[in-house]
Amino acid sequence: MFSKILVANRGEIALRITRACKEMGVRTVAIYSEADAESPHVHLADEAICIGKAPSAQSYLNIPAIISAAEITDVDAIHPGYGFLAENAHFAEICGSCQIKFIGPSPQAIRVMGDKMAAREAVRKCGVPIVAGGQEAIKDKEEALRVAKKIKYPVIIKAAAGGGGRGMRVCHNEVRLVSALMTAQHEAESAFGNSAVYIEKYLEKPKHIEFQILADSYGHITHLYERDCTIQRRHQKLLEEAPSPSVDWKLRKKMGEVAIKAAKAVNYVNAGTIEFLLDTDGKFYFIEMNTRVQVEHGITELVTGIDIVKEQIRIAAGEKLSIRKQDKIPLKGHAMECRINAEDPANDFTPCPGKIERYNAPGGPGVRLDSHVYAGYTVSPHYDSMIGKLMTFGRNRGEAIGIMQRALEEFIIEPIKTTVPIHKEILKSPIFRRAQMTTDFIPRILGEWSDKNADESKIAALKK
Ligand code: ADP
Repeated sequence: MFSKILVANRGEIALRITRACKEMGVRTVAIYSEADAESPHVHLADEAICIGKAPSAQSYLNIPAIISAAEITDVDAIHPGYGFLAENAHFAEICGSCQIKFIGPSPQAIRVMGDKMAAREAVRKCGVPIVAGGQEAIKDKEEALRVAKKIKYPVIIKAAAGGGGRGMRVCHNEVRLVSALMTAQHEAESAFGNSAVYIEKYLEKPKHIEFQILADSYGHITHLYERDCTIQRRHQKLLEEAPSPSVDWKLRKKMGEVAIKAAKAVNYVNAGTIEFLLDTDGKFYFIEMNTRVQVEHGITELVTGIDIVKEQIRIAAGEKLSIRKQDKIPLKGHAMECRINAEDPANDFTPCPGKIERYNAPGGPGVRLDSHVYAGYTVSPHYDSMIGKLMTFGRNRGEAIGIMQRALEEFIIEPIKTTVPIHKEILKSPIFRRAQMTTDFIPRILGEWSDKNADESKIAALKK
């Protein structure tokens, strides 16, 4: 086992990883930007090094500064968390060349799966169903029109290097396709430094179902069942649950086998996630693989009892999976996660950074809160707006929902705006309760809700 790990991240995931290390008797090094000097992950770690100014490019994405911190503190390994450098093959390679173990898959697997077109091709060759679409980057509008005509509208333009729901454009006709192509290419270039885009069939009311994979270096590979991440805003997840209320055991078995096939396509080692879209007719299609720990990993931990972060560390340290037989992986109860973001849901989820003056965290039976904020904490405009993950666990879905409703009622985060009110609305919805939601759920319920809430905030502003 490693004796010291540097956690190359911030916020709740840096805390999560540091906690796992503590429990495993592994010493930790935190890195932080000038904006995060007072963050809990800095205080919890055994050592902490400031690596630069607040903007990510000067701190959490600054590879020379991070590697220097790792060398000065003499760590054996780096855990990248999610976001920042977690899916940067170059960073993984540099770690390797400095004799520091990167806690994640090989640079080669990151590279293939990080390019969505290459990923599609790699898994397709192994018999994994993919959404219909072009196999190559679109060169010009004639090619775009040709591909779209073949697969039929609606289609979606996607950035090969895309992530975080960015760089996607849905097109219902030729006019829209031609106008969206250039914008999508420019957006891809500025967001990811790679202008390559491709076109695939846009599925109209799918569900997002993903499988958690664990693989060690001895050829053992298992899945920890699925998560349902259908509740999204702007193609980004907002609420997740495990297991999916839309997947029965027959489908679970089939999708799980296909997910393992997809991971094997790149000789995957460590934790990863295979994402599928499940169509209205019960057919499912691979959309991408995330080669890191997911934000929503905690709900899988709640229903399986397996600590995914500890498994990642053990795998990287050359140990075998703690459970190596698929049919021995437990699945018990139901877990749900609400992402608590510093955003205004009534105003198109605009980020609302600022100081938290009043804070009360929910607790009690069935509640897990992974968060790094407290009363007096200032949410920085420099980073992602997620300030916590509220998870609940019940014997069944109804119980998990009930506990979540109670926990959301207890949650006080003031005066900044958060996603707490929209989560309450989601949980009340009969469509959600009947598990009939599809990925267009939020826009469908949001219109009415935000009109009402925007009006209320306008009235409150007038009264002031
Ligand atoms: P990112 O890497 O940016 O997260 P994904 O490829 O994982 O992008 O897709 C994110 C979400 O976008 C999906 O969960 C789904 O809601 C939507 N999406 C992506 N591809 C399609 C598609 N072909 N048809 C319908 N929705 C899609």
